[in-house]
Amino acid sequence: MSLDFDAVVIGAGFGGMYMLHRLRQKGFRVRVFESGKGVGGTWYWNRYPGARCDVESVQYSYQFSPELQQEWEWTERYATQPEILRYANHVADRFDLRCDIRFETRVTQARFDDKAHAWTVETDKGDRVTARFVITAMGCLSSPNTPKIPGLEDFKGPTYHTGNWPHDGVDFTGETVGMIGTGSSAIQSIPIIAQQATHLTVFQRTANYMVPAHNKPLDPAYVRDVKANYEEMRRRARKMPAGIDFAFNPASAIETDEPERRRLFEERWNYGGLGFMGSFSDLLLNAESNETAADFVRAKIRDVVKDPELAEKLSPTNVIGCKRLCVDTGYWATFNQPHVTLVDVSDQPIERITANGLRAKGKDYTFDCLVLATGFDAMTGALLRVDIRGRDGQSLQDKWKEGPKSYLGLTLAGFPNLFTITGPGSPSVLTNMLPSIEQHVEWIADCIDYMRRRGATTIEPSREAEEAWVGHVGEMAGGTLRSTCSSWYVGANIPGKPRVFMPYIGGFPAYIERCEAVVKNGYEGFSLV
Ligand code: NAP
Repeated sequence: MSLDFDAVVIGAGFGGMYMLHRLRQKGFRVRVFESGKGVGGTWYWNRYPGARCDVESVQYSYQFSPELQQEWEWTERYATQPEILRYANHVADRFDLRCDIRFETRVTQARFDDKAHAWTVETDKGDRVTARFVITAMGCLSSPNTPKIPGLEDFKGPTYHTGNWPHDGVDFTGETVGMIGTGSSAIQSIPIIAQQATHLTVFQRTANYMVPAHNKPLDPAYVRDVKANYEEMRRRARKMPAGIDFAFNPASAIETDEPERRRLFEERWNYGGLGFMGSFSDLLLNAESNETAADFVRAKIRDVVKDPELAEKLSPTNVIGCKRLCVDTGYWATFNQPHVTLVDVSDQPIERITANGLRAKGKDYTFDCLVLATGFDAMTGALLRVDIRGRDGQSLQDKWKEGPKSYLGLTLAGFPNLFTITGPGSPSVLTNMLPSIEQHVEWIADCIDYMRRRGATTIEPSREAEEAWVGHVGEMAGGTLRSTCSSWYVGANIPGKPRVFMPYIGGFPAYIERCEAVVKNGYEGFSLV
């Protein structure tokens, strides 16, 4: 049976684009399906005001092409969404990717044929194509979560979700706005929406920790230096748990005396960014150490927020870093403004959305526009939206009904020739996504190339290898404070979703080593036919 393609890739974000390029370089025939009108994935959809990456731009970029790395000029320490989207488009043009991407086309079903050793993929545009391999590149945070608050359809004004923002932007000038959520998307957009709106009411279920971005234009001398030493920086980053090059202090917070501890926290605070959690090595391992960092941040909130009662409401009480840490610009100070109101809904859920606003704790709030900054069905949501069927017609929904299971976060027992870029069970969301994507793409491309050389037509992990990996992922998560709160890492934001810590927390270097060892040992844990 002749197949239409060697591989179908689902998604044209950073994962899908590089997968296409890499496979084409090796001479494979590839078709990419993308639901958006353009490339960029996360950065195509998340166009809310203030959207920018919280990993520094010089590191949140591809490294597979030294030429690309040298020619692209980032303008700010943390790149804005429009700049990252321009970069994605530049990559698509530079490597002539668009000709193999079908835009505005959503994959609806992928079925594995046991006899043909191939997948049949169907789309909402009526495509029906066959391919030896299916590679998902749908992103970890790409299935927006709209909470089932009663009355949502009754609201008369416009409702916006930060994860699916109108492409022409929204001007809130002269409008009153209600916002639900205080995660990363909310904290970036709140200061900007507050500049436009006549009144902004923020409904907070859980107060969040943030560290300042101290964003700034990039100094040309710094950029020259980075470019002159890019490879060295990338090498250092690969040795770091999150795949990000920043200094990590091996000392324990609780074993460091108070003045020195404060000095080190202050130093990181003044530098800005996620490196704050690298102030000490045990912040996510020891509850007492963690509390020292949490206390430090809470004191910062009291310094900024003038009303002590409001400062208290904005102060998180859970483990710092358990939910994803936010990187902000002027978030807390925004609440000092008289036209910004915080409503704490931590003790009682929002009762209902009404025609003109919402009702919470027996009180009615009115506003013209509603913003849902309510996050995503993370890591599994996008995959489960497609009807994926492996051997004997088993559905992915069925396989994952008690939580996601994978081997290395890359492959699934019972689903031969299916690869999941940054799938559950991989480090992905706990790392700098770009290098994580590149590592997966290169592993997959090498594997497919190896199969071609061996004349193999299927690859599939054994149930034992998968169980062992799932066990290892769970064991690693159990050893940190990160698995102790109701975060999207454990699926807690989606009612009914199985509570499983989804990403691999053992660190990027350990993960790379494991993937390389699997290959070295002749694709250990897999059967190749
Ligand atoms: P999120 O972190 O999941 O935040 C969602 C917010 O909505 C939370 O405050 C949540 O409260 C609240 N919420 C959800 N349902 C609710 C309900 N029924 N009633 C009241 N509140 C409700 O989502 P996100 O802010 O979109 O961020 C998701 C992830 O995307 C981030 O953690 C980060 O990894 C990534 N991201 C990164 C950047 C960046 O690079 N700077 C920017 C945006 C997003 P609870 O906390 O109580 O659940």
